[in-house]
Amino acid sequence: MPSPINIYGLDRTGLEQLFVELGQKPFRGRQLMKWVYHQGLTDFAAMTDLPRSVREWLQDNACFELPEVTAFRVSKDGTCKWVLDVGDNNLVETVLIPEKGRNTLCVSSQVGCMLDCSFCSTGKQGFNGNLPAAYIVAQMVLANQMLAERNERVTNVVLMGMGEPLLNFEAAMTATNVMMDDLAFGLSKRRVTISTAGVVPAIEKLAEVTDVSLAISLHAPTDDLRNELVPINRKYPLAQLLKACRRYADHLGGHRKLVIEYTLMKGVNDSKQHAKDLAELLRDIPCKINLIPFNPFPASGYEQPDSAAVYQFQTHLMKRGYTTMLRTTRGDDINAACGQLVGQVKDRTKRQTRYLARVKAAAV
Ligand code: SAH
Repeated sequence: MPSPINIYGLDRTGLEQLFVELGQKPFRGRQLMKWVYHQGLTDFAAMTDLPRSVREWLQDNACFELPEVTAFRVSKDGTCKWVLDVGDNNLVETVLIPEKGRNTLCVSSQVGCMLDCSFCSTGKQGFNGNLPAAYIVAQMVLANQMLAERNERVTNVVLMGMGEPLLNFEAAMTATNVMMDDLAFGLSKRRVTISTAGVVPAIEKLAEVTDVSLAISLHAPTDDLRNELVPINRKYPLAQLLKACRRYADHLGGHRKLVIEYTLMKGVNDSKQHAKDLAELLRDIPCKINLIPFNPFPASGYEQPDSAAVYQFQTHLMKRGYTTMLRTTRGDDINAACGQLVGQVKDRTKRQTRYLARVKAAAV
């Protein structure tokens, strides 16, 4: 018997299509969406405006499956982390960052990551596959279930958890469509952000199918340094990446900017010269800059710069006219900060084994 269709994995187009395949009119898909996301209903039998035969078919062939929550932790600063079993003992993590007036959810898109950026602990885990769209949406469902207890909900979503969303393109599109759809979570496109290390062909494709907000994990102003920190730069160097960024910014129109993320590492990419080069490099990209002081993890080989260096870096960019935010570390007491999400991946690349051997060697 084929496995049931997980309704969380279908966006408006997918649901309309499903109903057409059942010999129904597409608007039935929209009716279903409203029951699910506006009424919070998961019992097909109670969806009374759908024909009885359709309800029966859905009961037999569709489901609302959420991954199992294997751990839930709350930091002393209010940050929450879910550890989810997405099958086969693979674990991924989701982080909720409550701030005044907003609840930002940091969502994972893959089980581990194949990009192996030198300063990110997720990369050390290796890669074990893509998350289905349903499990990306499920992270939002779980967070909203928890927030409903205090009459709140997720206000902003960033695909900045584990994985590279643009290497799981279809699922990332479906999930962000559901997040932005008025019949579902209804978040404004300004409040849903895909973050990428720079998969250039996918950035180009993005403009054809969505106008979700885009963040670029840049971290270095020159190819030499970026090749070292973000290895995918060897395939798609800065000139290509920035060209794709300019095009996507054009696509968004003059009033929406890209976000450039820059993780600051002591003595690596945090000098005044780096700030100057960065300001120069981004001259004709409509963007704002997010500085993230490096979050340490065992045997990473990197350190966080001291606050004077961070301040100097930020000031230089601001003087050059860039809106430059400093991302404060949240949830580090529960290992929920940027770059600290490790989950647990059945690693086929053996990257994790090599990494753990290095950690052990460094400890003796
Ligand atoms: N693959 C995507 C999304 C995941 S990374 C991307 O690269 O954008 C999300 C953000 O966390 C990136 O900007 C990344 O550079 C940052 N990050 C990773 N490890 C970090 C660390 N140890 N300290 C601070 N930021 C880190």
